[in-house]
Amino acid sequence: MNENIKSKTPSTESPTPEEEKLFTSLRASHWSEFFGAEKVKHALHIALTAAKKRKESLEHILLYGPPGLGKTTLSHLIAKEMGVNIRITSGPAIERSGDLASILTNLEPGDVLFIDEIHRLNKVVEETLYPAMEDYALDIVIGKGPSARTLRLDLPKFTIIGATTRIGLMSAPLRDRFGIVQRLNFYLPDALEIIIENAAKKLKLKLAAQSKKELAQRARGTPRIALKLLKRARDFAQVKGKENIDQSVLDEAFSLLEIDNLGLDDSDRRLLKALI
Ligand code: ADP
Repeated sequence: MNENIKSKTPSTESPTPEEEKLFTSLRASHWSEFFGAEKVKHALHIALTAAKKRKESLEHILLYGPPGLGKTTLSHLIAKEMGVNIRITSGPAIERSGDLASILTNLEPGDVLFIDEIHRLNKVVEETLYPAMEDYALDIVIGKGPSARTLRLDLPKFTIIGATTRIGLMSAPLRDRFGIVQRLNFYLPDALEIIIENAAKKLKLKLAAQSKKELAQRARGTPRIALKLLKRARDFAQVKGKENIDQSVLDEAFSLLEIDNLGLDDSDRRLLKALI
């Protein structure tokens, strides 16, 4: 599977380039490594199986929910399952209709175009996208004034996977063009523990059972935060020359990072105090 990664800018909790590398290396490469989110996985599995049986491209999919819950990862898994390429871009990266036209005309039949932060597409680009999503065609206006002509360009059948943290900011016509709309919810501690355990295995880290619990408890229901905390704990263990991520390593890491047992950091606490 080719991966043309154009840009990736999650709206909040933006990972640093180093963290991004870590998340990519830990990204689930198979459904068996994508834990929790059972309802979403089930709905996608049905859509994927049906599309494969009909030998058709998959319907357009909209994934929404807070950052770090697996929208990008799911898109990679979907493309892999369909045996197609995934092209990654984001709402703000597509500035003009021409940008969109060049992306769409370069897709191969069945390809997945992942648009992160799709709520940030500008109006003109969004309107160019409508016929592309519905009729697999691009309407290009040539010339200006009374002599202007519209040229219809046929596109290969493709699948758009849109991701957004702010579904409320999406226009209704854009939302309605997605056949499958799925919300990703915060994860329960049990699922986060499995995610942490799996990542620890990949990183060849020794993690006590209690440490797994503590990390999951402080991850605010978010796999990306769980992985971030695991990485911090790994740094601390390494500096302390410890083989195991045990309670003492975690205590020190959390106290230095000022992360309490709910996963709140100093700026969260100050914000809450100001609200109170
Ligand atoms: P989003 O696109 O929603 O911001 P990502 O797909 O980039 O989230 O996920 C961030 C990190 O968390 C990635 O390393 C990803 O593999 C991991 N992750 C997210 N959800 C899960 C999950 N359900 N199981 C395993 N890992 C996950």
